[in-house]
Amino acid sequence: MVQAPTFRDVEAAAVRGASVVHRTPVLRSRLLNEQLGADVVFKCENFQRVGAFKFRGAYNALAQFSPEQRKAGVVAYSSGNHAQAVALSAQLLGIPATIVMPHDGPASKIAATKAYGGQVVPYDRYTEDVVEITRALADERGLTFVPPFDHPHVIAGQGTVARELFAEVGELDALFVPLGGGGLLSGTALVAREVAPGCRLYGVEPAAGDDGRQSLRQGRLVRIETPKTIADGAQTQHLGEHTFEIIRHAVTDIRTVTDDELVDAMRAFATYMKLVVEPTGCLGFAAVRGAADELRGQRVGVVISGGNIDLDRYAALLAAA
Ligand SMILES: *Cc1c(COP(=O)(O)O)cnc(C)c1O
Repeated sequence: MVQAPTFRDVEAAAVRGASVVHRTPVLRSRLLNEQLGADVVFKCENFQRVGAFKFRGAYNALAQFSPEQRKAGVVAYSSGNHAQAVALSAQLLGIPATIVMPHDGPASKIAATKAYGGQVVPYDRYTEDVVEITRALADERGLTFVPPFDHPHVIAGQGTVARELFAEVGELDALFVPLGGGGLLSGTALVAREVAPGCRLYGVEPAAGDDGRQSLRQGRLVRIETPKTIADGAQTQHLGEHTFEIIRHAVTDIRTVTDDELVDAMRAFATYMKLVVEPTGCLGFAAVRGAADELRGQRVGVVISGGNIDLDRYAALLAAA
């Protein structure tokens, strides 16, 4: 097993990615601050390359491949942002990429992955086991598997989001971060505990899939069925072993929000900040809106994790609310 990541690994990831990773903007809205009675800063990873923070972790992992690994190539599975993140990172580093994707997934994501030069291997998510397919490809072709969250190099890369945020805004009273498998939250925790030990840190997951909260409460990895939620980037069944080990010791609490609250947050982002944010990217802000009483007068950070959503679907979600 690779060693657990530390704050130093986040610093190294920042250096490694300095010339390719976007330093995303930190935005505020005066109107939203008035509504909430708090000073809220948004770290906008919807403006990251590929439209989500996942590029940071993927690039940090692929940039550490040995010459042999680079030559043989990388394999990953994903129906979403990790696929594009690995494909683009591989293209930038000259590494062949094979991405296993559900054949009935969003056409735009499959097209984007191919456009970055990734070789897409389709599978049927109802009859086939994606992990098995990926493992078999890795074995047969000597490819290196890069998982979406449970890897020290991925975690360290995701931590660079919080590193940039704290460097720009200084101390915060609380920070809210979307939670799926926990790569982003655990990376954030490595940074927050080092540079802002007084900052309360919250992971936010969909109410339909609160495995992270259950895991934190019970002190063990809780597994659930794939949750039904519009937050497709957080439809994970359980946290990772690496991510949970960090999260259990460093996170203040895990909160949940409903799909309706996510759509309300999507609308507020569009209305007040002119931002298109995908449902999963709204988790942190939705939790802040639900906790306005407790946050009054405080400095609050929110990570907007991504902005990838088909516009037809975006319009339909807003119209249905
Ligand atoms: C993957 C993803 C998440 C969840 O990240 P984890 O590291 O799995 O917790 C949140 N938001 C977006 C937009 C994502 O793509």
